[in-house]
Amino acid sequence: MEVRTFGVIGAGQMGNGIAQVAAMSGLVVVMNDIQEEFVQRGFNTIKKNLARSVDKGKMSQEEMDAVLGRIRTSVNLTDMVVADFVVEAATENEQIKFKIFQDLDNICPPHAVLATNTSSIPIGRIAGKTKRPEKVIGMHFMNPVPVMKLVEIIRGIATSDETFQLTWQLSEKMGKTPVLAQDYPGFIANRILMPMINEAVYCLYHGVGTREDIDTVMKLGMNHPMGPLALADLIGLDTCLAIMETLYQGFCDSKYRPCPLLRKYVEAGWLGRKTGRGFYEYS
Ligand code: NAD
Repeated sequence: MEVRTFGVIGAGQMGNGIAQVAAMSGLVVVMNDIQEEFVQRGFNTIKKNLARSVDKGKMSQEEMDAVLGRIRTSVNLTDMVVADFVVEAATENEQIKFKIFQDLDNICPPHAVLATNTSSIPIGRIAGKTKRPEKVIGMHFMNPVPVMKLVEIIRGIATSDETFQLTWQLSEKMGKTPVLAQDYPGFIANRILMPMINEAVYCLYHGVGTREDIDTVMKLGMNHPMGPLALADLIGLDTCLAIMETLYQGFCDSKYRPCPLLRKYVEAGWLGRKTGRGFYEYS
């Protein structure tokens, strides 16, 4: 099957990044969110990113216009009736994703593959909500999507070889380097990354160091490009907490217990960069 029309559900930081790289690789994109305001914000972020590339001489104005011309915005999930391949990048919440997959299963043509960008929710659990589990797969992009090369591809227990190969080829077409992960909570990336971030939050909670010192230790001592607290702010503290909850429940192992301070920040609406405040303040 040739993928021509590519659907993206959720126009947040991951969704608009995925829509951008898909359109840059020549695909026709339909980017959906629940409100006009959210899709417009996503579209404007893409515009800003592309304009920066034009300013730097990495892309011509004509190319930018062509990429933007391939992206259609939508606030109605039924617009996915034209999609050959959909990536869901909505909020990291099981119930939201279950409902989206049930609806997509009814709306999309029978040949369409339904992928999820979930950070941690088991693919098999999402696939079980559809009547096409063989066409459901994890396609986990990294943040920021236009910059990061990796895509983790996660096969659910029922994912077919055909779906897996198509997703692998599509990742390469989008300029990414795919890696196969098995379907366990957190897959590879967040099974390793998120407990480290959670432990950094524990260090702050226990007063082992200031936010700056914790981040500096990991940057200068471990050569990480960003400190874990700054990275948590970039990812979104709500997403970090949701991933820790999935690891904790999925493995029933206390080593994954989310730090109470992380929960407190999320409850206060301090979600990181996207709300202007997390472990750091953003203007
Ligand atoms: P975000 O909060 O920036 O965006 C989520 C978007 O989903 C919002 O615009 C919201 O309005 C929309 N949404 C919610 N319910 C919806 C529905 N029913 N239909 C359509 N849109 C809906 O979150 P994000 O950081 O972009 O994360 C999205 C997904 O990507 C999550 O599953 C997350 O775990 C995963 N992910 C995040 C990162 C990261 O670094 N933030 C990295 C990899 C994967």
